[in-house]
Amino acid sequence: MFTINELYFGRVEQKLSRAHQLHAHFGQKLLALPAVKEKLPQLETLSHALQRQMAAMSMFSLCRACGEKAGGGCCSAYMANETDAVLLLLNMLLGVTVASQRRDDSCECCYLGLQGCTLRVKPIFCLNYNCRHILTGNEASVLQNLETAASAVLRAQTALEEIILGHIRSA
Ligand code: SF4
Ligand code: SF4
Repeated sequence: MFTINELYFGRVEQKLSRAHQLHAHFGQKLLALPAVKEKLPQLETLSHALQRQMAAMSMFSLCRACGEKAGGGCCSAYMANETDAVLLLLNMLLGVTVASQRRDDSCECCYLGLQGCTLRVKPIFCLNYNCRHILTGNEASVLQNLETAASAVLRAQTALEEIILGHIRSA
């Protein structure tokens, strides 16, 4: 249906459009796969655990304040390019309404909503919380908890992306 190049490269809106097409074509079949049935709820649980950890560290207000300053935070339009059609499809399988939140000429990531990122699972670079605001404001044990939670999400989403890609490519 799509080449690897088309799934992972191209403009942000092209990858979003491809993800919608994949969801329409494969969504129900993917949700019926035993491996997806097993792993999707696990990913959901892990992503909620990561959100709880971030909330406990006040990261949402920290990032909001950072994003409002000149120069902005991490969620730039450039970062939106890190998304790909398979990751967006995975969000759709998790029940997320994946849609651009911004005008085309915005300098912010199109998936950044009023309450923060609208994606449940995000590109790997968005899970890298190595900025000085976070590193200097938290004890090592708290940072370790954050890293553990983020790594667990990343492993789970990578495993699911491989299953999804395998199914799409073999169809
Ligand atoms: S992760 Fe750090 S640099 Fe990025 S928006 Fe949050 S506080 Fe700012
Ligand atoms: S965390 Fe979400 S809103 Fe921010 S850059 Fe990543 S995908 Fe975009």
